Amino acid sequence: MRTIAIVGRPNVGKSRLFNRIVGHRRSIVDDQAGITRDRVEEIAKYGDERIRWIDTGGIGLSDDFAAMIELQAEVAIASADAVVLVVDIRDGIVPLDKLVAGKLRGRKPIMVAANKADHPGAESGAAEFSALGLGEVVGVSAEHGRGVSELIEKALALCGPAGEEDEEEPFVTRISIVGR
Ligand code: GDP
Ligand code: MG
Repeated sequence: MRTIAIVGRPNVGKSRLFNRIVGHRRSIVDDQAGITRDRVEEIAKYGDERIRWIDTGGIGLSDDFAAMIELQAEVAIASADAVVLVVDIRDGIVPLDKLVAGKLRGRKPIMVAANKADHPGAESGAAEFSALGLGEVVGVSAEHGRGVSELIEKALALCGPAGEEDEEEPFVTRISIVGR
């Protein structure tokens, strides 16, 4: 099964995007930065294929954003075939975006989702994020669903080819043990 991880600094809309893609409210969305408490993983069908999505937002939740981003990146690298870095199109590039980009650049196939492009034409602001040096940038609105199919298509193209689906995938409990 192909796995795509969603990374990015707090409050850019990772959980909203994750919920939009997997189709229901599993990940907590809140105005308060860093509200996602857990790493959330969900399998969602896209066409005939089942795809695993990971919202890394809750990893290493602490006041230390740099440490949190470090952990997000580690998990994304360890578990995903491709990574979507979410940024806020209204803010432009901020230092924490650069920090995440730096952790992942060259280590995993990655693309940028410039979120909160809520209105037609807003995605023109996405071009500026090319400066992060992560390749493809897509303007999306997790809130309204704009650009999300395009994002999924591009993220899948970054993954390797789809493997054979196990017809009856057994229940698997995944346990990550982390610590300093
Ligand atoms: P996370 O911390 O990256 O997981 O961000 P959340 O998904 O919790 O969202 C943070 C805030 O941004 C919430 O208030 C969301 O409602 C808001 N938000 C998320 N996506 C969008 C979007 O596409 N457009 C707008 N206008 N707001 C959004
Ligand atoms: Mg979140």
